[in-house]
Amino acid sequence: MNYHVLTLFPEMIEQGLNTSILGRAMEKNLITLQTTNIRDFSENKHMKVDDYPYGGGAGMVMQAGPVYKAYQHVREQVGEGKSLRVIYLTPQGNVFTQGMAEEFAKEEDLVFLCGHYEGIDERVLEEIVTDQVSIGDYVLTGGELPSMVMMDAISRLVPGVLNNDVSAEIESFHDNLLEYPQYTRPEEFMGKKVPEVLLSGHHGKIDAWRREQSVIRTAKRRPDLLKEAVLTDQERRLAEKHVEDVKRIE
Ligand code: SAM
Repeated sequence: MNYHVLTLFPEMIEQGLNTSILGRAMEKNLITLQTTNIRDFSENKHMKVDDYPYGGGAGMVMQAGPVYKAYQHVREQVGEGKSLRVIYLTPQGNVFTQGMAEEFAKEEDLVFLCGHYEGIDERVLEEIVTDQVSIGDYVLTGGELPSMVMMDAISRLVPGVLNNDVSAEIESFHDNLLEYPQYTRPEEFMGKKVPEVLLSGHHGKIDAWRREQSVIRTAKRRPDLLKEAVLTDQERRLAEKHVEDVKRIE
């Protein structure tokens, strides 16, 4: 997976991604990161890349020209003929999900366009952007953190990045269920014991317990996910019972 990030703050992306699991993945070349500083393509002797909004109003808007030239620079490096998804991080986009991470992880190259100030001139967005993605219903100062959130989630799905590829397959949101509770040593902490079944060594019973806990947890915390989850009749009854429990408390 090759990430190309168009940003005014390349050091933020580089420093943010080069540690821990993603840092190791980069060392192994499983993922590569290329940042392009939009300011390098300024058309102004003061290296400015923003200007006042037409029509007035607060703040500044990133100009189309430098963004387009920065994109062309990446386009030339990737190869003109290759189809390329260009993701603009924006609070106005579709909200990022695990399903979207799975879809993006199939690409060979991804371009992330990070906005700043009041955003970017609409005309260049129309010209180059294929996907508009938000990381949630709140407004941040720039697209750098959202792009890092996306790259982190996508990288975990690139084969070889996690030591154990199975772990990404059974985590929260896979199958539209939240993950079951996790425990590790010691067996007892502040008087609380690890559920007996997890010490049994009986894998069938452990799997059944975990599945049940996933259903209950999703029903209690994120009942909206259950609409898309594939459940047996028994599991659906269990889920409904726990969704109702929450309603009774409210
Ligand atoms: N004026 C814009 C609006 O109301 O939609 C918000 C601009 S925001 C202050 C500056 C930049 O931060 C955006 O261009 C975008 O790249 C990024 N950004 C802010 N919140 C975001 C979010 N929730 N998801 C993704 N990107 C976000």
